[in-house]
Amino acid sequence: MCIFCMIAEGQIPSRKIYEDDLCLAFLDLSQANIGHTLVVPKKHYDNMIDLDNDVAAHLFKVVSKLTKGISKALDINNFNILNNCGEIAGQTVNHFHIHIIPRIENDNIKIELSSNKLTDMEFDNLRDKLYNTINN
Ligand code: 5GP
Ligand code: ZN
Repeated sequence: MCIFCMIAEGQIPSRKIYEDDLCLAFLDLSQANIGHTLVVPKKHYDNMIDLDNDVAAHLFKVVSKLTKGISKALDINNFNILNNCGEIAGQTVNHFHIHIIPRIENDNIKIELSSNKLTDMEFDNLRDKLYNTINN
C-alpha cells in the first residue's frame, strides 16, 4: 500500500487540517514554506491522468476552500497551487496530490517555466491536434 493510502487509512500519522468523505489535507513533511499542505483523494489514483473527473472537481473545490483558510490563518496572500504529474515532472509519491504552497517575499523557492518559441504554423498544428483529440 502506498504512503498516502496509509495516511488516508490512519495507519501512519499525519497533521490533518481537513477531511471529508472523499479527501484529506495534511501538512507536507518538508514544508517548502510554512503552511505547505497536500490535498489527496482517499482513494488511490496514481496521478492526474488516472484521476476520476468528478473526484478532480471535488478536490479543486477543497483546494479553493483550504487556500482561503490558510490565507486567513497565516495572513498570506500568495500561493503556488501545483501538481507534479509523473516522475519526469517531479512526482515522487505516486498517489495523486495537490500542493498548496504559501509564498512570501524573498522565500527563495524556485518554480520556473522556460519558454519555447513556436512558429504560427506550429501553434496552429498543435492547437488543432489538441482540440480534435479533446473534443472528438
Ligand atoms: P511530489 O514530489 O510527489 O509532488 O510531492 C510529494 C510530497 O510528499 C513531498 O513534498 C514530500 O515532502 C511529501 N511527503 C512524502 N512522504 C510524506 C509523509 O509521510 N508525510 C507527509 N506529511 N508528507 C510526505
Ligand atoms: Zn495510494
